[in-house]
Amino acid sequence: MKKIIQDLSFAELENLILSFGEKKFRARQLYEGLTRGKSISGINVPAALREKLLSEYEDEPVKIIKTLRSEDGTEKYLYALADGNVVEGVLMKYKYGNTQCVSTQVGCRMGCKFCASTLGGLIRNLTSGEILAQVLTVNALHSVQGRRGVTNVVLMGSGEPLDNYGNVVGFLKNVSVEAGINISPRNISLSTSGLVPKIYALADEGLAVNLTVSLHAVTDEERARTMPVAKKYSISEILKACSYYFEKTGRRYIFEYALIAGENCGKEHAEGLINLLKGRPCHVNLIRLNEVKERDLSTITEKQAYAFLGLLEKGGLSATLRRRTGADIGGACGQLRANYLNG
Ligand code: SAH
Repeated sequence: MKKIIQDLSFAELENLILSFGEKKFRARQLYEGLTRGKSISGINVPAALREKLLSEYEDEPVKIIKTLRSEDGTEKYLYALADGNVVEGVLMKYKYGNTQCVSTQVGCRMGCKFCASTLGGLIRNLTSGEILAQVLTVNALHSVQGRRGVTNVVLMGSGEPLDNYGNVVGFLKNVSVEAGINISPRNISLSTSGLVPKIYALADEGLAVNLTVSLHAVTDEERARTMPVAKKYSISEILKACSYYFEKTGRRYIFEYALIAGENCGKEHAEGLINLLKGRPCHVNLIRLNEVKERDLSTITEKQAYAFLGLLEKGGLSATLRRRTGADIGGACGQLRANYLNG
C-alpha cells in the first residue's frame, strides 16, 4: 500500500509540497480539494505534481463499493481500502443534522459476544487518514450548497478506538481543525469498551470529545460473560476514569447499555445501574440489541425496554432508549462486512 495523503495535517502537506519544489499555494489547493472529498487525480494541479503525488500516495484510500438505503433515510456503506480490506460505516439522518459512524480498525480484538465486528479478530488498525477519508467521502456525497453533509461523528463502527490510540487522536485533531472539515469536538463521540489507561490519556489530550463507554452489565462477573475486556478493567476503575474525564473536559459521559434478553434487563439490573450511576454527570443510552446471526443472543420487546427505561428514570437517572435506525438494512456493527466476507 502507498502512503495515505489524508494522514497529513495542513502543515505537513505544505512541507511535502515545498519539498517537491512546488509553490506553497498548491498545498492549500490540495488540502481544500481533499477536504471536499476529492481524490488526488480529481484535483486540478499541474500534471507533474499530480504524478509525483500519485507515485507515493494512494489516490482514493477509501472507496465506497456498496450503499444500502433504509426507509428511514439511514445509509450504510461498505468501503474498500487500498489493500483490499473492507470496513463499513453508517450515516444517520436526524433533525439537527447528519451523524456519521466511522470505523477505526479492520475487525477488532475485544471479542464482545454480541458484536459482529470482532468475529474474525483484529486484521489491522486504520490510519488517521483512512478514518478521516470516510468522513470526507460521505460528507461530499451529502453536502448541499456548501453546507456540511456530515455534522456529527461517532466512533462506533468496527474497531476499538482506544486500541488504535495514536491514529484515532490524529484523526480527532485533523477532523476538528478549523482549516479542514472543522467538525467540533462537541459534535464527536468516541465509544470504548473501557480501556481505562487510554481514557485517562484521552482526558489529558485536551480534545474534549464526548466519551461513551459500553457498559452492558452492572457487575464485573456479568460483564465478563459478554465482554472479555471486563477481566482486565473493572467497572469501578471505569467509573473513576470517567470522573477524571469529566474533571478534565467538563463533558458529561455516556454509557451504552444493550438490552440482552435473559442477561442484563431484569429489575435487579435496573437497580444495579441506579446504584452505580446515580448522581454522576452521565447519561444512559439503552439500545435493544441488534441480533447478529452468528451470535446466539436476542433482545427484549420494545415494551419491555420502555419499562426498563422507566425504572432507570424513576431511580433518578438520565436515560433514553435509542431509536433503532436502519434495522431493515442490517444497521448493527459489522453485519455488512460479515455478510460481504461470507459472500
Ligand atoms: N469498540 C467500541 C466502539 C464500537 S461498537 C465500543 O465497544 O464501544 C459501538 C457500540 O455498539 C458499542 O456500545 C457496542 O457495545 C455496541 N454493539 C455492538 N454490537 C451490538 C449489537 N449487536 N447490538 C447493539 N449494540 C451493539
